[in-house]
Amino acid sequence: MGKLAINIVDKAGVRVPLLVEELNKAYCDEWLAYIQYMAGAQVASGMPRPNLLLELEEHAAEELDHAKKLAKRIIELGGTPIIEPKMWYKYSTCGYAAPKDPDAKIILEQNLQSERCAISVYNKLINMLDGRDPVTHKLLVKILEEELEHEQDLEDIEADVKSLNCKKK
Ligand code: MG
Ligand code: FE
Ligand code: FE
Repeated sequence: MGKLAINIVDKAGVRVPLLVEELNKAYCDEWLAYIQYMAGAQVASGMPRPNLLLELEEHAAEELDHAKKLAKRIIELGGTPIIEPKMWYKYSTCGYAAPKDPDAKIILEQNLQSERCAISVYNKLINMLDGRDPVTHKLLVKILEEELEHEQDLEDIEADVKSLNCKKK
């Protein structure tokens, strides 16, 4: 716990316990996103599988990295990351869509929805901070940038599938 770190944020007018709670909710989202991507990559079948698998695994690694970075910031702000998986469901905003249907197109769609949820979570948090805690602000902007990239990657695959389907007709 960084005493000065907390002080600076507090003096800037941010309620630190509230910020920690929001970061913890995002932390839960990231764990669930990581698992959703990993599980999806393991069970996905059918077109557009080869392309999709690489992207799912890459995104999984990036979601895990987001969780790590959020944990570091939570600790700097005097909080404790939620490390009990049972609690991830409880505190998550975006939830967990189990890839029960292995159809790659459905998995793609599920993950696209999750990315859009993550984008709105980070957007809200960044607006809430309003630049008052530059370190957390920078971290959240960096994560948001990657979530936007994730959405784009998945949309690109979706577009490939659509154009393939058109050619078949
Ligand atoms: Mg990617
Ligand atoms: Fe993420
Ligand atoms: Fe993502």
